[in-house]
Amino acid sequence: MKFLIDHTTMQIHRTPYAGDACGLNTTPLEKREGSHDEKYVNKLVEEKQYKKCSHCYDEKIYPS
Ligand SMILES: [Zn+2]
Repeated sequence: MKFLIDHTTMQIHRTPYAGDACGLNTTPLEKREGSHDEKYVNKLVEEKQYKKCSHCYDEKIYPS
């Protein structure tokens, strides 16, 4: 799983599920970070109050 971190809105996206609803097209490229490191992503969520994107993490559409 690859993650896409939006440092402008402080949201974590899951790259395969990221779409128009995420609003990523308004985020400058230099403010987006791609990562395969789930530990790093979870650390951002736990320590920096980043939020998991409700679209990319919709369990009804994309069961984990
Ligand atoms: Zn998203």
